[in-house]
Amino acid sequence: MSDYFLFDLDNTLYPRDCGLFDRVDALINDYLETVVGIPPERVDYLRRDYFARYGTTLSGLMRHHGVEPDHYLDYVHAVPVAEIIPPDPVINEALAALPGRKYIFSNASRRHCERVLAHLGIATHFEEIFDIIHFDYRPKPEPGVYRQVIGRVGGAGCKGVMVDDLVANLRPARAAGLKTILVDPAAGAAAGGRVNGDRNAPPVDAVAVSVHEVGGIVSRWRPRGWRF
Ligand SMILES: [Mg+2]
Repeated sequence: MSDYFLFDLDNTLYPRDCGLFDRVDALINDYLETVVGIPPERVDYLRRDYFARYGTTLSGLMRHHGVEPDHYLDYVHAVPVAEIIPPDPVINEALAALPGRKYIFSNASRRHCERVLAHLGIATHFEEIFDIIHFDYRPKPEPGVYRQVIGRVGGAGCKGVMVDDLVANLRPARAAGLKTILVDPAAGAAAGGRVNGDRNAPPVDAVAVSVHEVGGIVSRWRPRGWRF
């Protein structure tokens, strides 16, 4: 088995500042207010609370409000992806240069992932999409879903790398023995791809300004026994 990469999708494969996720975020608020009927002044608090307790707003809505997950996912991802995400002329090359199997590991729905991948023209790089539906709506960072993904795509002697824009989502991957790359424009620019011993540094193996830097980062691990 060759080595592999688990890629988050939103704010990882396209830049956070394009605003797509802000649009999804606004639709989540809208859903809580208009569909679930939560008073506007409670929406922010509830979202923070559910996110902290369960990993996603959806998990809290399912547990406490009987929300039907597919309805919610279709509603909040109804954004004009092609109008919002800028074209990325080099992402294809950046992904092609990574010598390992690639998978999407996302808390969004498969439909949303497919739309974004099609727009960027990169769907063929990925062997499989592990979306939130795949794990019965259990989200990252629940350790159980990492065990399932790794059990499915990992194998004796093969190594994995996870790439995500949230430290919280990388923590269980690191605990499971994967190398972790945080995509964060601000932290990446400050760190130049490396994580120093600074106690304020994020608890990951490397930080990148964008997904384009992943190839350069993994090539630096090669001399330390990594086959990439
Ligand atoms: Mg993300």
